[in-house]
Amino acid sequence: MAQYIDPHIHMVSRTTDDYKRMALAGCVMVSEPAFWAGFDRSGVEGFRDYFRQLVDFEARRAAAYGIAHHCWLCINAKEAENVALSREVIAMIPEFLDHPSVIGIGEIGLNKNTKNEATVFLDHLDLAARMDELVLVHTPHLADKYQGTRMILDMVKGDGRIKPERVCIDHVEEHTIRPALDAGHWVGMTLYPISKCTPARAADMVEAYGSDRVMVNSAGDWGHSDPLAVPEFIFEMKRRGHDEALIRKVVYDNPLAFFRQSRRFKS
Ligand SMILES: [Zn+2]
Repeated sequence: MAQYIDPHIHMVSRTTDDYKRMALAGCVMVSEPAFWAGFDRSGVEGFRDYFRQLVDFEARRAAAYGIAHHCWLCINAKEAENVALSREVIAMIPEFLDHPSVIGIGEIGLNKNTKNEATVFLDHLDLAARMDELVLVHTPHLADKYQGTRMILDMVKGDGRIKPERVCIDHVEEHTIRPALDAGHWVGMTLYPISKCTPARAADMVEAYGSDRVMVNSAGDWGHSDPLAVPEFIFEMKRRGHDEALIRKVVYDNPLAFFRQSRRFKS
C-alpha cells in the first residue's frame, strides 16, 4: 500500500474513526490549517484555545494511528471583517511559533475579496515575513476564484520579502493553476465531492501541467467532504496507468519537500 500525506485537512472536525480509515488507506502525515469553526469566535481567547487544541490534543489523537500531525495558524478570511480581532489574533500567534508541529501561517486568503480581507491578508504576510514562516493560502470559491487569486498573487509579490517557493496557493482549478505555478509557488488541488475539483480533474491537471510543485488534498472539514479523497486520486492515477514514482511525487514527496522548508519541520 502506498503511503501518502494529506497536506490540508481539518481533523478537529473529523472523528477518530476517520483517523483509523485514513491510516488503513496509507496516510502517514497530515497538515491542518487553522480555519473557520462554522461560527465566528467571540474573542482572541477562543483562538488561543483552538491553537492549543491543534498543537496538543489533535497531534496526540493522530499519533495513536501512526499519523504525524502538523498545523498552520491564522485567523480565517471569513472572520477578517473584524480587523481589530484579527490583529489581536495575529499578535498572539508568535506564542505558538516555537512549537515543533507548527509549519507556518495559514490558511490565510480571501473569501469575498473585500478590502478588510485584503488588509488582514497583508498583516498575515507581514507576520510570515518577519518570523520567516511558510505560507498556506486559501483561494476563494467559484465566481470569486480568478479575481481573488490574482489579488493574492499580486499581494504576495508586492511584499517582496517572501520567496515564492515558500508559499502554497491552495484550491487551484484549471483557470488558476498556471498563474500560481508561473509565479513560482507550490499549488494544492482540493478534491471535494461538490465543488473545487474531482480526482479525475486533478489527474487531468497533472497530465496537463506536470507534477512539479503540485500537491493534492481533501480539505476535509465539518461540511460535505471526503477524508479519503487523496486515495481516490491515487486510484484514478493508477487506473490511467501512471507509474508509482509520479503518483508518489504528488501525494508524498512534494508535500514533504514543501514542509521541509519550515525551520522547525523534522521528518
Ligand atoms: Zn481548509
